[in-house]
Amino acid sequence: MRIKETPPLTVSSAAIEVAADNLLPPGSRLASIPPSGTMAVGRRVRELRGGGIDVIHLGAGSPEPAPGCVSKPVLFAPEQNAIGDPAGDAALRSAISDKLARDQALSYDPATQIVVTVGAKQALYAALLALIEPGDEVAIMDPAWVTYAPSVQIAGGIPKTFPLDRKNSFQLDAEAIRAVIGPRTRAIIVNTPHNPTGRVFTETELTSVAGLAVEHNLWVISDESFEKFVFDGRRHVSIAELPGMSERTVILQSFSKNYGLIGARVGYLAAPKMIAAQVTRFGEQVLSCVSPFMQALALSALTEEPEWTVRLRAHYERKRQVAVDGVRRVRGFSCAVPEGTFYVLADVSSLSASSEEFSMYLLDQAHVAVTPGSAFGANGEGYIRFNLAGPLELIVGGLERIRKTLDARLEAKHDHGAQRQSHH
Ligand code: PLP
Repeated sequence: MRIKETPPLTVSSAAIEVAADNLLPPGSRLASIPPSGTMAVGRRVRELRGGGIDVIHLGAGSPEPAPGCVSKPVLFAPEQNAIGDPAGDAALRSAISDKLARDQALSYDPATQIVVTVGAKQALYAALLALIEPGDEVAIMDPAWVTYAPSVQIAGGIPKTFPLDRKNSFQLDAEAIRAVIGPRTRAIIVNTPHNPTGRVFTETELTSVAGLAVEHNLWVISDESFEKFVFDGRRHVSIAELPGMSERTVILQSFSKNYGLIGARVGYLAAPKMIAAQVTRFGEQVLSCVSPFMQALALSALTEEPEWTVRLRAHYERKRQVAVDGVRRVRGFSCAVPEGTFYVLADVSSLSASSEEFSMYLLDQAHVAVTPGSAFGANGEGYIRFNLAGPLELIVGGLERIRKTLDARLEAKHDHGAQRQSHH
């Protein structure tokens, strides 16, 4: 039998434009989200690399080392080719509940209070949908991870930023939070260990936030995605551990950082029963379930934890020290020693008024990508953030390139100045 050929489509481009003109504009909820502050750097990295330039990317990176379970060949088991429980695999939720009991002395029922999510990102968004009404306000730190404010907006809420006290090593300042709390405030988002400053907030600082949450009857969303990255013998404190807080806290967790499984896209949320039930309902409709295969990988990583955490801390403490030394060798840069995370936030305000322009300059001239502090909020202006997830050689190499580029710039300025003087 001959199959009848379909005639080629002959719609003119003018007709397409007319049709496009008649289309309704996209909805404002997504259209109003500004492009991510890190996008411009990422685009320029791709352009430079496309032109054959070897760029060292210290703006983002996949955590190394990866846990042992990543290097083992694994088969996709037939039973994993199925839709699982929308709240997450029972064995994984049970291991998560054990982990919360062991590390934070927190008691969460795996059947009703823990929900496995597609990364902490989806946990955040689902938590916001469960907690706020359109028009409600959510208090967010400044600087903070770039995703909080847009997620609040997509969920119909209004982000209200409060500054961390940059004159005092980015301390949590309860009075700054109080200043943004109003009648529509429903929640405060805290993140410790903190991206981008590397702070590990102390029990005293968290107690002041808890006091405000209780006083104003607010929810707390506690992003603990860097929990394992705490240095110099510090202990990660979850705000949910403080008296009266577990019933008003939603803990967000990620396998991307703590367990080096960034590509698996698995995270979870631990919350009071009624919130976990709402988040599960969201998962039922939007995801069906998190990939059972990836949940099995997350469970393997969790099982490796006791040995993994010790190795991870030692490795990252070393990378942190090398990075801090490297940053401090650059003339005009200064930085605090990060208490946790895998970031170093360098103060470059003596060299440039715009961290975005300065980051572009470093990318174009030194071929090193960093993230401008302004991407994390107005209070991050004057800083650039280094991501230490990648190999040590790249951190050393990247900082050395920056040092040489800025030294050459200073010398050129100096020579130029000397020449002008001799002309006068
Ligand atoms: N939370 C914080 C504070 C982050 O900085 C990031 C990523 O940079 C995430 C969560 C992302 O977590 P996930 O990969 O699990 O979505």
